[in-house]
Amino acid sequence: MPELPEMETYRRLLGERITGKTITRADVQREKTVNLPAEAFIQRVQGRTIRSVQRKAKHLLFHLDNESVLLLHLMLGGFLYYGSETDKLDRTAQVTFHLGGHTLYFHGLRLGYLHLYSLEECAQKLADLGPEPLDPLFSAVSFGQLLSERRGILKTTLVDQHVLSGIGNCYSDEICFDAGILPMRKIPALSSTELASLYQSMHAVLNEAIRYGGYMEYPLYKGDAFTGGYNERCKIYDRGQDPCLRCGTPIIQEELASRKVFYCPRCQK
Ligand SMILES: [Zn+2]
Repeated sequence: MPELPEMETYRRLLGERITGKTITRADVQREKTVNLPAEAFIQRVQGRTIRSVQRKAKHLLFHLDNESVLLLHLMLGGFLYYGSETDKLDRTAQVTFHLGGHTLYFHGLRLGYLHLYSLEECAQKLADLGPEPLDPLFSAVSFGQLLSERRGILKTTLVDQHVLSGIGNCYSDEICFDAGILPMRKIPALSSTELASLYQSMHAVLNEAIRYGGYMEYPLYKGDAFTGGYNERCKIYDRGQDPCLRCGTPIIQEELASRKVFYCPRCQK
C-alpha cells in the first residue's frame, strides 16, 4: 500500500503537471470508487480547474476551483498514470480525467476511493489523523510524548494512522531496522535513547524514500525513471531469507497482528 513517500512523489510530479489544468471530460468506469452516482460526480467535476494538489498522510487532495476537493486514497493496489491514449497502460482504470492533451488514469481502485467533498467535509474526514511525521513542528520531544502515551507494540503503533499519519507496513519495518530496534517491542519498554533514534530513523528513512521516488511499481508517466526508485533501496521489507545488508544474518519474516513484519534478529534489539 502506498505510504507517505509514494504519495509525496505523486503530489510533486502531478502538481507540476496538472495544476491549473481543466478537467475537460471525466469518466467513471467503476461507480463504487466515487461517492456519488457516476453522472452526478461527472457533472460536478467536469469543467473544473485543478487549483492544487496536496498530500495529507496517505491521501492526495485535488483542490478544484469551486471550493470542492477530490480526496484520493489508493489503499491496496491503487496507482496513478498520467499519459495519453497512445501510451496508456494496458490496465483498466476506475476513473479517468481528461486534462486537455493528457489523461489522468486512476488504476487499481478496488479498495481505494476518489471522493468529492466540500472543504469542510474533507477536513472532517481527515480530522482524526495523527501528526505528519515530517511536519517541522513535530519535534523529537513531541514524538517521545506521543509514544509515551501508548502501551502497544512498536510496529502496530507506527502504522496506526490515529497516532502518526503516513507510515505503513514497509516504512515501519525500514524505520525499526534503521534504528536497530525490533518492531515487536512494547512501547513502554523503549528507552529515551531508543525513542530518539526512532525519531531520527523516521526522518532518515522517509526523506531518503522521498528523494528516490518511493517504491511504486509503475511509472507515473511515459519515460518517468524517478517514481519507484526506492524499491531496490528497501533494506529489510519484503526481503525475507535474504542476508541482512549489515550483518549477513538471514532476515526473518513473521506475522504480527495479521501484518507482515521483517527484521534482522541480530542487528535489531
Ligand atoms: Zn543484521
